[in-house]
Amino acid sequence: MSTNNLAAIAQAMVAPGKGILAADESTGTIGKRFDGIQVENIEENRRAYRDMLFATKGLGEHISGVILYDETLRQKAADGTPFVDVLNKAGVLLGIKVDAGAKPLAFCPGETVTEGLDNLPKRCAEYVNLGARFAKWRAVIDIGRDIPTSTSIAANAHALARYAAICQEAGLVPIVEPEVLMDGDHDIDRCEEVTEWTLNAVYEALYLHRVVLEHSVLKPSMVISGKKCPKQAPVDEVAARTVRTLKRTVPAAVAGIVFLSGGQSDEVATAHLNSMNVQFKGNLPWPLSFSYGRALQQPSLKAWKGQAANVPAAQAALAHRSKMNGLAALGRYSADLERKG
Ligand code: 13P
Repeated sequence: MSTNNLAAIAQAMVAPGKGILAADESTGTIGKRFDGIQVENIEENRRAYRDMLFATKGLGEHISGVILYDETLRQKAADGTPFVDVLNKAGVLLGIKVDAGAKPLAFCPGETVTEGLDNLPKRCAEYVNLGARFAKWRAVIDIGRDIPTSTSIAANAHALARYAAICQEAGLVPIVEPEVLMDGDHDIDRCEEVTEWTLNAVYEALYLHRVVLEHSVLKPSMVISGKKCPKQAPVDEVAARTVRTLKRTVPAAVAGIVFLSGGQSDEVATAHLNSMNVQFKGNLPWPLSFSYGRALQQPSLKAWKGQAANVPAAQAALAHRSKMNGLAALGRYSADLERKG
């Protein structure tokens, strides 16, 4: 795969007014989502759910790429068309989650390091053959009493850098995802401090491992008050602090930044992204867009409830959230448009 191709893929992932649908829940995680709508977590239901999402009319208008889980990349739509072909036809790039999840980190109680580097070059080669063009690896940094430790920040940054280098060598654009969790009662100052620390460590590690920044996309969490913090920072402050932190830590050469939603409600996640693009219009070195999982899927999942008869309503819900977030990526979202659809 030529170098130019990786640059083109990375740019296409963050094309103006477009973002990424994260639909790469592992079998365990999708089970938690299905529990909420009383749907059994069996392969056919997982297939039917993803079939509903991917068959949404006009998906490619605001969605540049979809991140898939291994099982999904190999599945087919109800009419037998491989999902790979369905998405290619919709003009949507295929991404693949390649990490094996966050596992307990030795000597660091309550902290994790993401695993999955074993055999990664071989797995990446297979994914390229199956049609994947980009990959994702999520590192998890938790905030609590005495954590994060510098041990967990260093271990996670190292793993992200090894992953990103392996992907680029194999011909996949890496999405580098260091998620600072919003669980906990910490305030926004503490989130800003930990996010700055994490991103500095990540970019130092990427440099050490020779990652080509122009061929990479960052997927960070926002700088936000902990969920249980009594004082919740308003939308414009979250947006301003997030951009300040990114400007301090993320090289301008990075192709683009796509946020995770991390447990924010769907409309709040859209409002945060919009505020960043409004406040810093013309004053950003990279496009700022979305790679939401829950904040894109939640209304659709609720409308679907596992029933074929609900597919049109569920698809309309996904199309609406995709459009609203596409507008937010341009700084053109408003509460008014939210209601009008
Ligand atoms: P959320 O937007 O639900 O946080 O999911 C994004 C994601 O891909 C997490 O790895």
